[in-house]
Formats: sequence, C-alpha cells, structure tokens
Amino acid sequence: MNISVPKLKILILSTPVGALGSGLGGGVELTISNLAHELQSRGHTIEIIAPAGSHLGDLSIIQIPGELQLTAQTQEQAAAIVMPGDPVLANMWATARSIQHDYDVILNTAFDWLPFYLTPFFDTPVAHFVSMGSQIAAIDTAIERVAIDYPGTIGVCTRTQAQTFSFADRCCVVGGSGVDPAVYQYCDAPENTLAWLGRISPEKALEDAVAAAERTGIKLKIMGKIQDPDYWAQIQRDYPRAPIEYLGFLPTHELQQALRTCKGMLMTPRWVEAFGNVAIEALACGVPVIAYRRGGPAEIITDGKTGFLVEPDRVEGLVAAINRLAEIDRADCRHAAETVFSQAAWGTVMENWFVRLVV
Ligand code: UDP
Repeated sequence: MNISVPKLKILILSTPVGALGSGLGGGVELTISNLAHELQSRGHTIEIIAPAGSHLGDLSIIQIPGELQLTAQTQEQAAAIVMPGDPVLANMWATARSIQHDYDVILNTAFDWLPFYLTPFFDTPVAHFVSMGSQIAAIDTAIERVAIDYPGTIGVCTRTQAQTFSFADRCCVVGGSGVDPAVYQYCDAPENTLAWLGRISPEKALEDAVAAAERTGIKLKIMGKIQDPDYWAQIQRDYPRAPIEYLGFLPTHELQQALRTCKGMLMTPRWVEAFGNVAIEALACGVPVIAYRRGGPAEIITDGKTGFLVEPDRVEGLVAAINRLAEIDRADCRHAAETVFSQAAWGTVMENWFVRLVV
C-alpha cells in the first residue's frame, strides 16, 4: 500500500437496471463488490447507492425505490432516452446530490444518459466508469460532452471498448475489474467438461458455445442469469441433443466450485464486450479461456498461453481450440489472475484515478 495516498470518502452509484445481487447488472455487480472491498481495506470510506432490494455481502447500501431502467445492450443506436414515471435512476442521483458534500468523489457505474447530463450540476467530482461500448447515440453524445468539459473523468475498461466511441482519445483506460485470488480455488486436474458463464442474452451468443458442445460431445456447464427467457428457450429447441447442463445463477463461491473443474471456458460475445469479468474469474481458477478475438476478452487472454483467441462467430474455431486445450499450462492462467488481473492491482489503478480527480 502507498502510504502517501490520501484517505478518500467515495460514493458509488450502482447500475439502475437491477438490484445488486439480482444478476441483472451483469459484471458491474462483482466489479462494485471487489472495488468497494479493496478500497475499504486501504482505509477509504465507501458508501453505495443502489436500487431497493440490493445486497452485496457485508457492504452498506443506501436502498432507493423506483422503477428500473431498460438495459442498453439490446437497444438500437437510434434509440431515444427512456425514463419511467418514478425512475430509480433519477431517485438515486437526487439522493447523491443531497449527500454529495460528505464525499470527495462520486463514482458512476450506470451506462445511462442521466448521470452524464447531471455532472455539471454537482459540486463533488464525478468519475464515470463506462462499462459498455457505444450502444446508443444519445448516450455517446452525453458522455462526449463530459469527456470534453471534465477531462480525465471518463474511465473505460479496455482500448477496444474505447475505440467504439468517436472520442476514444478522451477516455482513460482503467481496466474492468480485478479478482481476489483467495475467493477462487485453483484446480490443476480438470474433468472433460467445458463452461460458459454470463447473462443469457443474445449479445452473448450462447448458441455458439452450445453448438461447439454438440459438435465435440463435451459437456457444457452453463451458469448465469436468464435475462431473455425466449432466447434461452430457442437455444434449447435448436440444439436438443447438445450435452448441456444449466446450473442456475450461482453466487461466486458456488460458481467457482463448478467452474474450476472445467478444462476450458468459452466466451462467445457477438458484441464488443467491454471487458468480461467471467474471463478473469476463469483464469483465477486455472481455467483457460477460448474467446472470440473481439473486445475485452482479446485484451485479457494471451493467445496460446492463457487460452485461445479465435475468429469471431465461427464455431469451427471454437472446436479447433477445444482440441488444443491440453497445450495450456493452467498455472499460467492462475498466475495472470494473481498479478495483472488481481483485485489489488486494479485497486491501485482506481485509487490513482480517484486521487487525480480529487486533488
Ligand atoms: N455471474 C454470477 N453467477 C453466475 C454466472 C455469472 O454471479 O452463475 C456473474 C459473474 O461473476 C460476472 C457477471 O455475472 O461478474 C458477468 O459479467 P461479465 O463482465 O462477464 O459480463 P456482463 O454481464 O457485464 O456483460
């Protein structure tokens, strides 16, 4: 720990698309949990504002009522900004405004128009953690305005994510998350099983992993929130003979137990995934990742060392890489999670970012 770093009071605003713990927020939930724990362990004071019904282990949360926002990832570029009648997003930011002077910095984790629009109306600096690539033009415009007027406040996870925005050079790459290696048990002797983790939603293209399981005959364990039940039902209809097993949306402890015994994890994003928390969770267990060479996973995985990067949207590439999994030394995967992608390493980057905005 760097003893010259000032102790900060940090107010974290969660995503308005779901309560923390529901899985609807995707990777942002684990990201907030890991970040809050890491910063607390360094002596910073953390408070979290999130939709009512949120729970995140032992972390204290100000619970805010109101209607959830639509998720951005399935919307069109030309989509309009939508605000329900009693928006939890607006209620969260009204609360933040009323207590802002108790904090040194506010961290926004919502990929939505309002927090960017509101930035000039706050006295306390707002750091925006942008966890998706360009999705809706109106949100891009709001982010760009802040990027110009408040330099250094737009944090993105990866370079490829930044490049989806026309203002890429105004974004700070701060990484997507970091894992606590103590939470994930390393497994050196896997079974002949594959894993797929994530929100079950079209942009994640689970069907490609299921197709690869069908072609190889290797069992695929699927874990994650079913965000789009019709999409999930369609996959089951399309691949009735695929050797798949759905284990549910699991808490981290159970997730790592089921994941660590797999010989590889498949990541099949159809979109430019900003980061991909599940990639670093797999690495922490010693599980190599086979991913499409696109977005965040392509910056996390070292091809041939911690997994394989294959041509996007081609099931045969996944199959070929599955057949090469034995070439990967699982200890290299664990090592990457203990070093580059550790909670401690990420905590330092985020801490430095906040200090830059405060002083
Ligand atoms: N996850 C979970 N339980 C499961 C499957 C997934 O808690 O059964 C979590 C996982 O730990 C990760 C998140 O779901 O933090 C998915 O995040 P990722 O960054 O991979 O994708 P996103 O949903 O943000 O697009």
